[in-house]
Amino acid sequence: MPRQDRPSRLRLPPLVLFDLDDTIFDHTLTCRAALAELRRQERDLTGPSLDDTLSEYGRLLNAMHTDVMLGRRTADDVRAERFERLTEWAGHPVARARAEELSSTYRREYQRLRRAVPGAPEAIRRLAGRAKIGVVTNNTVAEQVEKLAFLRLDGDVDFLVTSEEVGRAKPDPAIFRAALERGKHAPRDAVMVGDSWASDVVGARAAGIRAVWFNRFETPPPAKPGAAELTSFRPLAQFERLISADRRH
Ligand SMILES: [Mg+2]
Repeated sequence: MPRQDRPSRLRLPPLVLFDLDDTIFDHTLTCRAALAELRRQERDLTGPSLDDTLSEYGRLLNAMHTDVMLGRRTADDVRAERFERLTEWAGHPVARARAEELSSTYRREYQRLRRAVPGAPEAIRRLAGRAKIGVVTNNTVAEQVEKLAFLRLDGDVDFLVTSEEVGRAKPDPAIFRAALERGKHAPRDAVMVGDSWASDVVGARAAGIRAVWFNRFETPPPAKPGAAELTSFRPLAQFERLISADRRH
């Protein structure tokens, strides 16, 4: 094991909370790869660039995600509608049945191409047993349980808190308070690691939890700095220093 990756003697926070999508599970790059494959196989999305298509797809996903993460609509239902709207945006509007076909091809490719955020599973495995680990996520229980199993992290993560079961979504501090209750720790004993400034950093702080912003694409902070910033989980020792209880921000 390289010297910098050896377990350290840092005083870790007793409770480490992680976001799942785009912090542990690489949703964005999986999405990009699946859209690239869909454009290669089908003509309905040709025209706009891949990056523009990804950006529009992300916009539609966010716009329609609230209903899914709160359990109001099924993922399949919104997926087909998303492809109706995406093809319309691309200048090749399709009927519902065709949107369903595109959606299922996309879904198949997404499942085939999915991957972890580099370094995240190793970081979690190294923390396991040394701190309690919780995942706090805006999505459904079934989908997120399946992702953790796919990443082989289900044995290392102590608990999962989803917006679906809590009935509140990040940045609502209620979902973070639910995580503190599940983890049986006070806010001062916890740290939250997540890629979304608006959901993870703002939400955790509203619940009194220190936040580490995972900013792997190195985008400028939307508000004045004040959260520790992490651009990669590697080297692992550096990640642990950043979340350690000795480091205050
Ligand atoms: Mg995220």
